Amino acid sequence: MTQQGFVAKTYIGAISPYVAGKPIEETAKEYGLNPEKIVKLASNENPLGMPESAKQAMVEAATHAFRYPDGNARHFRSAVAKFLGVDDSWVIAGNGSDEILGLIARLVLSPGTRCVYSQYSFSVYELSAQENGAECVEIPADNFKVDLKAISEACQVLGTRLVFITNPNNPTGLALSSEAIESFIASVPKDCVVVFDEAYCDYLPDDMRVDSVALVKKYPNVLVTRTFSKAYGLAGLRAGYGVAQPALIEMMNRIRPPFNMNYLAQAAAAGCIADKAFLKKVYETNRAGVEDLEKFFDEQKLTYLKTLANFILVKVGPKAAEINTELLKQGVIVRPVKSYGLPEWLRISIGTAEDNARFKEAFVKAREILGV
Ligand SMILES: *Cc1c(COP(=O)(O)O)cnc(C)c1O
Repeated sequence: MTQQGFVAKTYIGAISPYVAGKPIEETAKEYGLNPEKIVKLASNENPLGMPESAKQAMVEAATHAFRYPDGNARHFRSAVAKFLGVDDSWVIAGNGSDEILGLIARLVLSPGTRCVYSQYSFSVYELSAQENGAECVEIPADNFKVDLKAISEACQVLGTRLVFITNPNNPTGLALSSEAIESFIASVPKDCVVVFDEAYCDYLPDDMRVDSVALVKKYPNVLVTRTFSKAYGLAGLRAGYGVAQPALIEMMNRIRPPFNMNYLAQAAAAGCIADKAFLKKVYETNRAGVEDLEKFFDEQKLTYLKTLANFILVKVGPKAAEINTELLKQGVIVRPVKSYGLPEWLRISIGTAEDNARFKEAFVKAREILGV
């Protein structure tokens, strides 16, 4: 019967793979550019690089990396637990927070169950539901905002086992209030896990931060996920974690691959988690960059969303793909978001002042060339 020598599960054949930001090396080759001169504003990486605290811890750990890492990531998890004020048993380590998103989906989803998330949200949610054969229920956004009321209603349907909420959201950059989040969580049936993805929480102003640990303490069906890939500048190492009550963490640990978080990632992440000085600098650099780009898009008379994250979503019109190509030719990589259902928009990660200047210059030139 089969020509290929294998029979994949039918629901896996239906998956369209994750589209990542275009790598620097690939862009350099394709357009004949010097990779050193390329500005990548496509994957929400930290333009300041990694903190010294992480680098130091990683260099010290390097000598020992011939050994397996601690399979229970004790040192890392205890650094996280101390940072959050919970017991170690409330923390699970991940090879990036993507892995945690995948683990929770594997734990609770199977054919016949439902997974709910908003339109314009992180594509990994859909992927992790699809690979488990669950029904994907995407709730239309309300003028780009996550419609918590409609999502809550969708969660009442029998068989709904998982719902994803992101704050601030990717790719819109919009944030929810603490009150809205808590009343949403309170409304979700007790047998439906709420994943509260806080990949970008470090970019929120103080008055918008959510006490997500308090939510975990109050609700046994809440799983908070965080990452070291964005504000902490460790995207290439793959480091993230989940926080939930011990019963849920213990179940996830049963399917977590042994040694999932590598030696260097554990050391670096534990070394920088409490680096407040670095996070402050990251926050301030980012806000200055956001203001700069907002001013620029105002001058360009373009519509953008008021971001509270480290990227900005801007409507550049029907020629978005062409603009993207013109930017690439000039060595500026941004993120087209057609796959998110936003063919006329681009998502630009906030860079250093220098990166942002390069982007602005290239963008003006791209519009001139295309006459848009
Ligand atoms: C970047 C991102 C993550 C995390 O990525 P990892 O590198 O796997 O930790 C999670 N959620 C959202 C919404 C993101 O944008």
